[in-house]
Amino acid sequence: MSQKKRYLLDEEQIPRYWYNIQADMTTKPMPPLNPATHQPLTPEDLYPIFAKELCRQELNQTDRWIEIPDAVREMYKYYRSTPLVRATGLEKALGTPAHIYFKNESVSPMGSHKLNSAIPQAYYCKEEGVTNITTETGAGQWGASLAYAASLFGLEAAVYQVKISYEQKPYRRSIMQTFGAQVTPSPSMSTRAGKDILTAHPHHQGSLGTAISEAVELAMTTPNCKYTLGSVLSHVSLHQTVIGLEAEKQMEMAGEYPDIVIACFGGGSNFGGLAFPFMRHRYEGTAPKATRFIAAEPASCPKLTRGEFRYDFGDEAGLTPLLPMFTLGHNFTPANIHAGGLRYHGAGVIVSQLLKDKLMEAVDIDQLESFAAGTLFARAEGIIPAPESCHAIAATIKEAQKCKETGEKKVILFNLSGHGLIDMSAYDQYLAGNLVNYTLSDDDIRKSLKD
Ligand SMILES: *Cc1c(COP(=O)(O)O)cnc(C)c1O
Repeated sequence: MSQKKRYLLDEEQIPRYWYNIQADMTTKPMPPLNPATHQPLTPEDLYPIFAKELCRQELNQTDRWIEIPDAVREMYKYYRSTPLVRATGLEKALGTPAHIYFKNESVSPMGSHKLNSAIPQAYYCKEEGVTNITTETGAGQWGASLAYAASLFGLEAAVYQVKISYEQKPYRRSIMQTFGAQVTPSPSMSTRAGKDILTAHPHHQGSLGTAISEAVELAMTTPNCKYTLGSVLSHVSLHQTVIGLEAEKQMEMAGEYPDIVIACFGGGSNFGGLAFPFMRHRYEGTAPKATRFIAAEPASCPKLTRGEFRYDFGDEAGLTPLLPMFTLGHNFTPANIHAGGLRYHGAGVIVSQLLKDKLMEAVDIDQLESFAAGTLFARAEGIIPAPESCHAIAATIKEAQKCKETGEKKVILFNLSGHGLIDMSAYDQYLAGNLVNYTLSDDDIRKSLKD
């Protein structure tokens, strides 16, 4: 088979179903708990917050395949399939015998994988007669995707953006506003939660925790308004499996099968999206290789490599259900690294169970190493990666270098979760030598877990 640089699928090969790994897992994730009663959560418990179909998907442990609604699949066609690319430039720059492939999710209109879940979330809200949707965003990748998805379905979107990002990263705010979303810096005086925080701490700069609290409150107190989330939850990873289902077919076109699958890790949605369809081959007994799955997280927010598996809240304020997950404690405040999408204290429940069962691995990457990797990749492949994606690239380079030492021709597949064209101020600082690594002592982690 002649080696191509890029592999694309025909329209009819775009997946018709998402893959629900929960149905295949031998050890199922433990149930999320209702924070008030400590009883296992039912879909009904979640109905006041999320669209009903999303609540059912969240807790579905029986259906392996969930049909992608036609209207969603039609919108996927605007930008899918995304290319699978053989990173020949990177292979050459590293002098490695490894074959490196990446799935390029940066080609979506919003520049990242987040749109894959924003579209179905907005769709299900629209279907059940919801008129307004709300969410939180940090650097703005999720907020931008949700604002666009809302505009596609004629929904009104209200986004709470972490105040410091609202002020420091004006471009994604402009993107959200271009799509007609109302963007409010959080904490704000528009909610009870925001008022409480601001009267207690008048110059609060905001965090994902404050923004989640405000968005959830808005959804619960506004008729016809639902909350949406861009990562962590199982239904978000479910939607993201379009990435891996496409990659599976594209790797076949390339005549190869991955020895190693790698993605960066914030809450787990782009990792699960790429990895779960390949893990499926293991459950089916059809995997031709003992593939390793590696999640790459920032060293400054190491929930998978140094956190603890336990029940914890998904937000700082403690409003969400209790989730069984690897966590650094819900009061953990990550250092202000530029990979904003990876600054989250916990991991999704599916990935947490898989890691506990040693069916996947995790590595942590320092900030400087991530930008060195991103810069090398940019020069070799002509694409500037998002600071988050740089972590996956750094982990890929490590594995490719091991292959160079041993002479093994391993096949490595990683996810390029987004481009970094709106994050150039971070690259500026890296190139000027102004970025630093943040180290966490065991003591810091112990203290945060104790609270
Ligand atoms: C949000 C984001 C991530 C992290 O989120 P996951 O749910 O872990 O995938 C990674 N890369 C990019 C570009 C993002 O926007």
